[in-house]
Amino acid sequence: MQTIQSINEMQSHAISLRTNGCLIGLVPTMGCLHEGHLSLIDIAREKADKVIVSIFVNPTQFGLNEDFDRYPRILKEDLALCEDRGVDIVFNPDIADVYPKGYSTYVNEEQVSADLCGVSRPNHFRGVATVCLKLFNITRPDYAVFGQKDAQQCSMVKKMAADLNLPIEVLVGPTLRDADGLATSSRNRYLTSLQRSDALTIPNALEEGKKLVEQGVRNVDRVVAEVTHHLSQCRRIRVLYVRVVDRETMEPASEIESGKHIIVTAAWVDQTRLIDNIAL
Ligand code: AMP
Repeated sequence: MQTIQSINEMQSHAISLRTNGCLIGLVPTMGCLHEGHLSLIDIAREKADKVIVSIFVNPTQFGLNEDFDRYPRILKEDLALCEDRGVDIVFNPDIADVYPKGYSTYVNEEQVSADLCGVSRPNHFRGVATVCLKLFNITRPDYAVFGQKDAQQCSMVKKMAADLNLPIEVLVGPTLRDADGLATSSRNRYLTSLQRSDALTIPNALEEGKKLVEQGVRNVDRVVAEVTHHLSQCRRIRVLYVRVVDRETMEPASEIESGKHIIVTAAWVDQTRLIDNIAL
């Protein structure tokens, strides 16, 4: 496995791989890798000849009072996990190279990213779109793999790829969960064991919503009320949003259709912001 920090080196290496007919799969991450990330690496492996994992805690997608400074950075462990999983290249650029002094170009997707986390995290998706486009330009992937856990991010990246005619296929892997149902997340590291067991209320509440739909309920407000009620039973949890949306476009549902809609939620568990979603 190669580790590359230099943007120029990564870009020229990617170009020469492509010239030699290699299909490149990219898994963009912020590190602190867990089973969710590793499952995306497996998806990239199936499709591509060379798998690149980028590890970059992207400052432009964090708000002023968010957790950029305390975001867990454990590069050594990440590299060992990548090596074990058969990754070919880890691309781990420096912030000062990605955003040199005077940097002033940003990408805004203005539809998919407008609502939900776009409201509670202003500028978050601008940062994500910008860094993804930069990573795509540097690593030249045929495939870029993202996780369904960040459903709005997946839709936004697909929309950006379509709108900007990027020659990239965006693949989405299913949400990996711990045995008890909590979606794996780098931010789960912030949770004490009490907070972690309360965080389980999130997947449980989504399951309650799905149960209603399985019983034949099609009314969006009823499902949202059920999930919100379940979440509000836990005093550590502060709900940011619960919505039923189209899984591709993130547009609000008016009447629930199985296979088309998902319930999405974001909530604080004390000081930790978690997101999750469930297909209906
Ligand atoms: P992050 O490092 O949190 O920016 O995530 C990098 C990629 O991993 C994103 O595409 C996420 O959607 C994906 N990811 C994060 N958690 C999970 C999970 N539990 N299951 C599947 N993919 C995930």
